[in-house]
Amino acid sequence: MLAAQKGVFAKQILLGNGSDEVLDLLFRAFCRPGIDNIISLPPTYGMYKVLAALNEIEDREVVLNSNFQPNLEEIFKQIDAHTKIIFLCSPNNPTGNIFLKASVEKILNSFNGLVVIDEAYIDFSSEKSWLERLEEFPNLVITQTMSKAWGLAGVRLGICYASEEIITILNKIKAPYNINELTQKKVLERLSKFQDVKNEIQNLLEEREKMMANLSKMAFIEEVFPSEANFILVRMHDAPRKYEDLLKKGVVVRNRSNQVLCENTLRITVGTPRENANLIEQLKNLDK
Ligand SMILES: *Cc1c(COP(=O)(O)O)cnc(C)c1O
Repeated sequence: MLAAQKGVFAKQILLGNGSDEVLDLLFRAFCRPGIDNIISLPPTYGMYKVLAALNEIEDREVVLNSNFQPNLEEIFKQIDAHTKIIFLCSPNNPTGNIFLKASVEKILNSFNGLVVIDEAYIDFSSEKSWLERLEEFPNLVITQTMSKAWGLAGVRLGICYASEEIITILNKIKAPYNINELTQKKVLERLSKFQDVKNEIQNLLEEREKMMANLSKMAFIEEVFPSEANFILVRMHDAPRKYEDLLKKGVVVRNRSNQVLCENTLRITVGTPRENANLIEQLKNLDK
């Protein structure tokens, strides 16, 4: 069903117990502990670093440019004979932007190892998935998940799309029967209601635009970053303090201020209309 919806062959798909499991399989299949390295581009999803550490793989971090785009020159400087995977999270968590097509192409064309594009948030983006380019790049690996736009984080289903050769290798090392029948049932049900999901996404995008407009009006907010995801990164005066104040009001956002390039930022997830209105109201009150 996924193959038909996504326009790929079933042999180009591997399912995992969440996309975090897929990412771990990639480390175990392609990187030798204590020898190889990977490249990640902070500020980004924290799991690449955790999995690298767990698998005893060096994580060479190349900080994004100030516009949150990959620093190509520095990436190519960091690549050596032991660099096996470059992780590109696009749309990126927590910055919310998508990486420029030309930059991703350049990396795919110039790097001999795997380029993993983590598309956990692609369904919220106005840009197309890299899936339709799968045949073009033998080193391209794409991960997606049922946990975000599909609203099924609890069923734990992650998806990896790659060449048949890569998928065959991953299938050899994955635990047997790890996608349980209840998960499969739920996901099949959800996939068949494709149109419902599309409508939910449309509603969320409208809420996102509304929230961005409201946030931009607040005096203490310095920057509302553009978003291709279901969250908004916002720079504001004394974000750690605002985070604590919101917490006291029962509103939980993510304080990203400790991450590189993210000083004084909160990452706000777009919720239900009621939750969003409440967040805006509480933030306005902090302003007084
Ligand atoms: C949430 C998230 C994932 C993990 O999703 P699961 O399928 O629930 O494991 C992977 N990558 C990014 C960038 C995410 O934000």
